[in-house]
Amino acid sequence: MKKPLVLFTAFSLCTTLILSGCGNQFLPSIDHQFSNVEDPAIQQTLAVPVYQRTEIISSPEEARQLLIDGNKRFTSGKPLGKDLSSIRREDLMSNGQHPFAVVVCCSDSRVPPELLFDQALGDLFVVRVAGNVISPIELGSIEYAVEHLKTPLVVVLGHEECGAVTAAVQGGKTHGSVGTIIEKIMPSVVKAKSMGLTGKDLIEMSTNFNIKNASQDILKSPIVKEKVEVNQVNIIGIKYDLDEGIMNFNLVAINYL
Ligand SMILES: [Zn+2]
Repeated sequence: MKKPLVLFTAFSLCTTLILSGCGNQFLPSIDHQFSNVEDPAIQQTLAVPVYQRTEIISSPEEARQLLIDGNKRFTSGKPLGKDLSSIRREDLMSNGQHPFAVVVCCSDSRVPPELLFDQALGDLFVVRVAGNVISPIELGSIEYAVEHLKTPLVVVLGHEECGAVTAAVQGGKTHGSVGTIIEKIMPSVVKAKSMGLTGKDLIEMSTNFNIKNASQDILKSPIVKEKVEVNQVNIIGIKYDLDEGIMNFNLVAINYL
C-alpha cells in the first residue's frame, strides 16, 4: 500500500507562504492581515503543519482513509495548513490534477467538502447540487473524473436536516426548477413513510435513503460500474452531522473492499 500523501513540514504556514510565494498577488493581503497579529491563539493557528499531497492515490480504500483522517482533524479543531502559494498552483497546472475522491455533495453552505474533510487544492473533485441527487449532468462529471482523472473513490455526501429533503417530505408546491430536484428525492420519502416514520425521523430516514439511491444511480453508469467491478473504484455514501461535524462513513458502501 502506498504511504498517505501527507507531508508535515517543520515550517509554519506563514513561513511557507512567504518562502514559496514571494511576488504573487495573493500574498500581500495575507502578510498584511497577519503582520501585526499578537494574539497567541492566532499565532498558534498560523504555526500549523502544512498539508500537501505529493503522490497519486489509486486505491479506493486509501482514499477513504484520507477522508476519515481529514474529518478527524476537522472535528478536533486541528486542520492542517494548506499550500495556496503560486508554486503549488503552477505545479497543479503543469502536472495536472489527480483528485483522489469525487464528492457529490449537497449545495448547503454548511457542508463544504474541502473544509469538512480538511483537504487542499487538487484533492477533491466536487459536484455540488441541492439534495445530492444524480441526473445525467452530475453523472457526466463523475464519469469524467473516474475515466480521465483515474479518481478511485466516489462519495455521495448528504447531511442532517437537509432542506431539499425536508421540502420533499413536506410535499408543498415548488416554483421554477426546484421540482426537478424534489422529484428525484420523492422515492426515498415514500420508502421512509412506508416505515411509519414521522417528523424528524422521517426526514432523516428519507435523507439516508436518498444518499443510498444516489449511490445506486451512480452505479448505473457503465463507465463507473466497469471500474467498480474490478475494484479500481468504490462508491460510498456518507452522512454529515451538522452540529457535531462528524461524518457517518458506514451509511452506504457499494462493493466496499
Ligand atoms: Zn442539503
